[in-house]
Amino acid sequence: MRGVDDLTGEIRERGFRCTRCGACCSEVSEGSNLVILSPGEVRQVAKAADLPPGEVAEPYPEFLDGPGKSRYTFDWCLNRDEGHCRFLEGEKCRVYAARPWICRTYPFMLEGDRLIVSECPGLGTEMTLEEARAVASALIERQAAEAAEEEGIRRVLSTTSPPPGETAVVDSEGVWPVHG
Ligand code: SF4
Repeated sequence: MRGVDDLTGEIRERGFRCTRCGACCSEVSEGSNLVILSPGEVRQVAKAADLPPGEVAEPYPEFLDGPGKSRYTFDWCLNRDEGHCRFLEGEKCRVYAARPWICRTYPFMLEGDRLIVSECPGLGTEMTLEEARAVASALIERQAAEAAEEEGIRRVLSTTSPPPGETAVVDSEGVWPVHG
């Protein structure tokens, strides 16, 4: 696992400051703003938005074929409205303090030990050591949270399957049939 000091250095070299362009919260190319959420993140956003969980997230739109003609996907994604995240208001995020890991760490992500950097107009801007360290720590926490979610999904799938003939979401807390 990548150490925070080492990662801080690499992030600082790339440099980043959010320009509040909103591009990462809008669909600039197909699926570009799909934000995958664990069930805990769905609850966190729902609480911040004062909405029922079913109104903040929908099944992640990539389905696999399962046993007995079932179809299933893993986890959830933020609801979007005409291509924009439904929580984007002008240049502001309505659930900023409770935003999911992907939003917190954009345009960076870790793939194993490798830092992946997505296109973003805020890149190349000078950062303080503290700012870079905060991003590095968040990335390491995000990676651990994603690993825990994946492990939870494996555990669920070891004992449960999507119901025959149904479409379902599998997350770390269970298998949830969805309709429509
Ligand atoms: S939750 Fe906030 S930061 Fe994340 S995509 Fe939506 S508006 Fe953007």
